[in-house]
Amino acid sequence: MPNQAGRDSLFCDVAVIGAGGAGLLAGIAAARAGAKTVLFERMRVPAKKVAISGGGRCNFSNTLDPRRFVKLFGDEHARFLGHALKALSNAELQEILARHGVDGQVERNYRLYTKSGRGADVVKALVDEFQAAGGQLITGARIVSLERGEAGWTLRIDRASPEPARGAAAEAAAQAVPAHLETHLAKGVVVCTGGLSYAATGSTGDGYAWAKALGHTVTKLRPALVGLTLEEAWPRAISGLAWDDAAVELRPEHEPNAKPLSSERAEILFTHFGISGPAIIDTSNAFVRSGLPRAHLKVDFFPAQPREALDADLLARFKAAPQRSVARALDGLLPSRLLERFEMILGDAAAVPVARLPKDVRQRLLEMLKATRLTVTGTRGIEYGEVTDGGIAWEEIEPTTLESRKAPGLYFAGEILDLTGRCGGFNLQAAFSTGYLAGKTAAKRAPIHRRNP
Ligand SMILES: Cc1cc2nc3c(=O)[nH]c(=O)nc-3n(C[C@H](O)[C@H](O)[C@H](O)COP(=O)(O)OP(=O)(O)OC[C@H]3O[C@@H](n4cnc5c(N)ncnc54)[C@H](O)[C@@H]3O)c2cc1C
Repeated sequence: MPNQAGRDSLFCDVAVIGAGGAGLLAGIAAARAGAKTVLFERMRVPAKKVAISGGGRCNFSNTLDPRRFVKLFGDEHARFLGHALKALSNAELQEILARHGVDGQVERNYRLYTKSGRGADVVKALVDEFQAAGGQLITGARIVSLERGEAGWTLRIDRASPEPARGAAAEAAAQAVPAHLETHLAKGVVVCTGGLSYAATGSTGDGYAWAKALGHTVTKLRPALVGLTLEEAWPRAISGLAWDDAAVELRPEHEPNAKPLSSERAEILFTHFGISGPAIIDTSNAFVRSGLPRAHLKVDFFPAQPREALDADLLARFKAAPQRSVARALDGLLPSRLLERFEMILGDAAAVPVARLPKDVRQRLLEMLKATRLTVTGTRGIEYGEVTDGGIAWEEIEPTTLESRKAPGLYFAGEILDLTGRCGGFNLQAAFSTGYLAGKTAAKRAPIHRRNP
């Protein structure tokens, strides 16, 4: 696993900053191409985000061919991914992992998860592959500045306090001038510092600042793949309750007949802040991109059942248990905590045995089952987004190489790019593939960059 480099390793062909999914593959590609490659990681261990992804089981890719991958990705910029996916396909990624004993298994149509159920296995396989290719990994090394000079790129490294700090320590760290700085020279640099979310994994947005200083545009940074906050209080009262097949539609508030901004069908989860789960996480991207402060969310708990069939089912259940309350008569149809909430929302009119339940109350109940209406008031925040929406603008990057059009010898890969995929292994495969393409071209062009910095 990680090694600590000595202070004498001061020059390399390709420096990769950030040993996440993109950085590890950039390192593998550059080292395989014969370049002297150094991968800098601020954390003590690499790729913490990869290890925790997919609930710790790592949905590292999917089985879609490149055309379908781009089509289903969920971001107009996915069209720039063609060259990256050619440089490293999902099949080639699986080959690398399989060589290190990490197999995938397909779940929910096309999603590839680790068979072992351990995201950490993916990280170990990629680190081993990188080191076997001859690359050098330096952990606990935060790059604090990146400058272009006569002899190539100069990286300044803080080894004394490399990891993100919290609270008062964070404020002190922000004001302190880093001690124990080392410098490192490189012919080409691949920036793979990730986005802004889950800062404890090491991604605090350092790369955006360097990119801006070098003349790049960074598009608006917003949370994506994130839980949504709700105006209604009752979902918070059933926090922890999951429902595995719901259809959710998002529309502008007060426009119930408008074309949905998004339609998803998957699991939902009620939480202490509102609502989450795969269907909501994917919906969140549409909410964030809409720019609306609030939106309307319709939840169908029985997408496979037409309204009439469900109504007939309700009537049959009421007939079978005429003296029961609504929640008890529908026992097994939905979790009882949710049924009890619905019963409370229906109020006094529903506080009778179901044999005497007025028809309009039954219709309101049916409406709740097929079209519960919720008001989205925001997201849980960037810290909790699985990814960051926005990033380095594509107009200033050459998509065939991922080299900067502003600063030759500088490459970007992974989440730092303006590219946000939906759930399903899209984001990690995009990070792996863009990393590979950038590392490969940085290695190939390293001799040119040195002559012509
Ligand atoms: C909870 C969660 C679950 C997820 N699940 C999935 C999933 O199942 N499938 C999927 O496809 N995607 C998933 N994602 C998204 C996916 O993990 C990211 O899109 C992906 O990891 C991005 O890779 P990256 O290499 O660009 O950035 P990161 O993985 O964030 O790596 C960036 C690295 O750079 C390092 N770094 C930052 N600044 C510096 C610096 N100045 N000097 C040195 N090092 C630095 C960081 O420490 C970090 O190791 C999930 C994300 C989260 C948060």
